Order: sequence, then C-alpha cells, then structure tokens
Amino acid sequence: MRSTMMDTPLLISRLLEHGATVHGSAEVVTATGAEPRRMTYAQVGRDAARLAHALRDLGVTGDQRVATFMWNNAEHLVAYFAVPGMGAVLHTLNIRLFPDQLTYIANHAEDHVVLVDHTLLPLLAKVLPQLTTVRHVVVNGPADLAALRHSAGDRVTVHAWEELLAGRPETYDWPELDERDAAALCYTSGTTGNPKGVAYSHRSLWLHALQVCMPEGFGLGATDRTLAVVPMFHAMSWGLPYASFMAGSSLIMPDRFLQAEPLAAMIAGERATIAGAVPTIWTDLLTYLDAHPTDTSSLREVIVGGSACPPALMHAFLERHDIRVIHAWGMTETSPLGSVARPPAGVDGEQEWRYRYTQGRVPAGVAARIVGASGEVLPADGASVGELEVRGPWVTGRYLGEETPGEEKFRDGWLRTGDVGALSADGFITLTDRAKDVIKSGGEWISSVELENALMAHPAVLEACVVGVPDERWGERPLATVVLQEGASATPAQLHEFLAGTLARWQLPERWAFIEAVPKTSVGKFDKKVVRQRYAEGDLRAEQLT
Ligand code: ADP
Repeated sequence: MRSTMMDTPLLISRLLEHGATVHGSAEVVTATGAEPRRMTYAQVGRDAARLAHALRDLGVTGDQRVATFMWNNAEHLVAYFAVPGMGAVLHTLNIRLFPDQLTYIANHAEDHVVLVDHTLLPLLAKVLPQLTTVRHVVVNGPADLAALRHSAGDRVTVHAWEELLAGRPETYDWPELDERDAAALCYTSGTTGNPKGVAYSHRSLWLHALQVCMPEGFGLGATDRTLAVVPMFHAMSWGLPYASFMAGSSLIMPDRFLQAEPLAAMIAGERATIAGAVPTIWTDLLTYLDAHPTDTSSLREVIVGGSACPPALMHAFLERHDIRVIHAWGMTETSPLGSVARPPAGVDGEQEWRYRYTQGRVPAGVAARIVGASGEVLPADGASVGELEVRGPWVTGRYLGEETPGEEKFRDGWLRTGDVGALSADGFITLTDRAKDVIKSGGEWISSVELENALMAHPAVLEACVVGVPDERWGERPLATVVLQEGASATPAQLHEFLAGTLARWQLPERWAFIEAVPKTSVGKFDKKVVRQRYAEGDLRAEQLT
C-alpha cells in the first residue's frame, strides 16, 4: 500500500519562508568590532529574495555553484538561503586553506560566482587569476573595487553587494526542486591527496537540521540565542544556521572577531544561551575567563566537537564558570552531526561523567558499527575496538565526481570514518584515535588522545599534542609536545610521573618537547602531520627520559 501522505519536498526555501515569517522577529547579530549589526529573519528573507534575483541576472539559472568566501555574518546567512533556494549550489570555501588547495577546490567545483567579504579580498585576490570558471565576484562591504577590477582581468566582473541588491524585489518565486538535488557543497580538508567534495541535498540538510533541534541534539528552541563560532565554511557551521531558522533561535555571528576577548564580550552582551566551537577556541576562552571575570550566566551549555574534548576542559568550565560542556562528534561527511554526549536517564556522579567524556550517542538517523582489521563487524559491547562506520540519510555515500564509492572510504553502503574506537550497546561512541594517529608500539596500540587528555589534566599544561615517532626497538613510540600555561613550569620527569598515576607505564612517552603553540589545521585542530614532520626534520628539541 502506498501512503496517503503529501509528498511536499524538504527544501531550503521552505526553511527560509518559515523562519522569515513565523520567526520573523528573531535576529542575526553580527560582530563589527564596535556596535554589532542586527538583521531580523524577516529581513534575511527579503535580502535572500533580492540576492536570488541578482544572481539570476548574473546568469545563475541552473545548478551552478555559487561560492562564498566569508566569515560568519548576516550576508553569509542570506547566501545560505538564497543560493540553494533558487536551485543553485552553495559552495562554502574555507578561507584558511592554502592558495593551491583553494584553487583546486574552486576549479573542481566549477564555481561561477564568488561572494566575498571585503576583509577577505586580499586573500581572494591572490587566487582569483587561477579560478578559471569564476565569472563574477560580489563584494560584501566597503572596498576599492577599481583596484580589484584591475587585477581580476576581463574574465571576471566585480560587483558591490549593496548596489547589486538595491531596488530588487523582496520576494522570489522559489522553485519546486527535487529534494534529493544538491543544495550545498563542502570539501574535506584532505589530509592525504586532494580535498574531496561532499554535496548535501535539500533533504539531508533538512533532516539534519531537525536532529540539531532535537533535545538529544543541541536542543535549539525559539528562546535560544545561538553563538555560532564554528565557521560557516566548515561543515555548514554544524547545521546551526538552518536549525535556527527551523526553531526560531536567534544567531550571534562573530564575523572575524574570533579571539577570546570579543567572544566573551558577545556572550555577555548578547546573552548567548548556547555556543558551538572546536576545543582550542574553548581552551583560549577558559584562560581568558579565568583572568577576566565575565557574565556568562546566560549560557545553558556549550557544544565542543571537531576533535576530542579533554575531560579536564569540561571540569574546569563547570567548576570555575558554571558552564556545562557537551561533547559531540561528527565529520564533513556526516553533515556533520554524528553523535552528542547526553547521558541516559538514571545516571549521576562518576557514571554520568563517564558518559559525558564519550563522543556521544548516535541518533536514529545515524546507524553505527565497529569493524575489525579484516572487515568483520565487532560486537557493540563498549570494549571491542575497531574502525567506526556509519550510515544514514545525512551521511554521504560517495565523494563528488566518483562514479562509484571508493573502497578506501566506503564499504557495503557504510562510510568508513577513519576513526578508531568502541560502541556501547546503548549507542555511545568512544573514540581512542584517528586511524592514522594511533601509535603502534611493539604490536600494541597507544591512544594519542588518551595521553593528551591525561596530560591536559595537569595544572601546568595548557595544551598537549602527542604523535607517534619512529623508534628502533618498538617501531613507534609517543612523542609528547607540551604548551605550558603562562608562568607555569614543569619538567618532563614530573609530567611523566603524573601520567603514571592514570596510565600503564609502557604507554608513557619517553620523548618530550616544550613548544610555544601546537600547530593547528585550517579549522583549528591539532595538526599532527606538521608535528611529525618537525620532529623528523630535527626542528623540535626533544628531551629523552631514560
Ligand atoms: P578534517 O578534520 O579532516 O578537516 P572534518 O572536519 O570533517 O575533517 O573532521 C572529522 C574528523 O574530526 C572526525 O573523523 C574525527 O577524527 C574528528 N572529530 C570530530 N569530532 C570529534 C570528537 N568529538 N572527538 C574526537 N575526534 C573528533
């Protein structure tokens, strides 16, 4: 029997219509370095229509790619709705990538238009001559367009955002699209080989937004004021923009003001209720809040994901600032929400904490399994360790341009995450490492993340990054690189002794290096490749304990 239900498609334009009317007085607040700018969701709706008309005039008629090269701000939000709404594909370019990678990505995606913030023009100008498919650049904010026109050459026409939108109709006849068509495009940063494209559909973004709003997700509601620190150019800002239009939560956008001080000011000034960012942002914020008492009482919780959240960070936020940290896991390939660590009913004390340290519990939309080295599915017993594989309606089934899913990342309809860990019977994922970061010492595996978490629990340690380095006897051994808290001191022997309190002796690093800062990737994660390379090139002065 076929169902009797209507088959209205799950489209981004519907989310826009809903947010701009039902939640029309919700607002997007953008940091400016002085007084923040404010725009209501009703205005976002009108501007999205104006932008769609303008893009149509620039020749965007089908599923052309319209790229953004922008911070988190109101205009980026407008583009998030206008571009997919009209049937084109929003391609969020990561502004922190190297020029070579940017060029590769924009050409691979065949971007037709680039929307760019004026503060990012110098970066874009460097690569623009190599972006062979780009025909139009639209600049948001004040800029010297004459200079840009000169360097852009004949192929590219340069427009000013305000001028381009001025006088356009404030409504748009959003087309009935196929919900399975691509709406947005993100590239993974590609630690090996070229970056790979993941094309989200209208449907996958919708279903994902629903999950973000669920209580077991981020629990967004109309009374929330959501501080989206996680960039809109990285995994769709964890779905916060679309989920906010769905739920009516207001958005607080930091633009380029991502340092701890302005973030703290935004939390206090705009009364943020929830915020999302990678651990390094929170580490910096913690240091800042410790030294500069700030009213953070509006925050009901902060979501930490993108890399493992050290338990010490969770405890410090709670004990010193009464802020609840929620750990979540995901990847570009999973839209990105994969799991959120909200403990089950009926647990408290130590048991509750143990649940909160995990990467979290999978929702109905994400099936998970653990697979062993020879491809066998391991029991979900919380103890068997292997590669995490996932599948579901907001998990990618292949990369853009692949005819069939590549074996390295896909197996029998499952995505191979490259993350290593265990799955409990009640659906909680505990990751021990990324497959490529696990330290293989004399046939045994050492988790670099476990060592890092243990080290970051030491009061003198601000950040610790552990990598495997070649060792004649054991094949590989851990090297601990440590950033000390300002004014603090500790010796390798002391830190080694500290670790011996919680970890087996054979796992403890012999090699130690104190560094100024841990090198970070384009999205603020520890860049272990760079650490390994620096060690190999003799750049790190490592001390060896005997
Ligand atoms: P990349 O880091 O390669 O640019 P993504 O941003 O998509 O790509 O990162 C996804 C990866 O980030 C995951 O596969 C996992 O290794 C890591 N990750 C994300 N969240 C967590 C977490 N809570 N704990 C540990 N690792 C995480």
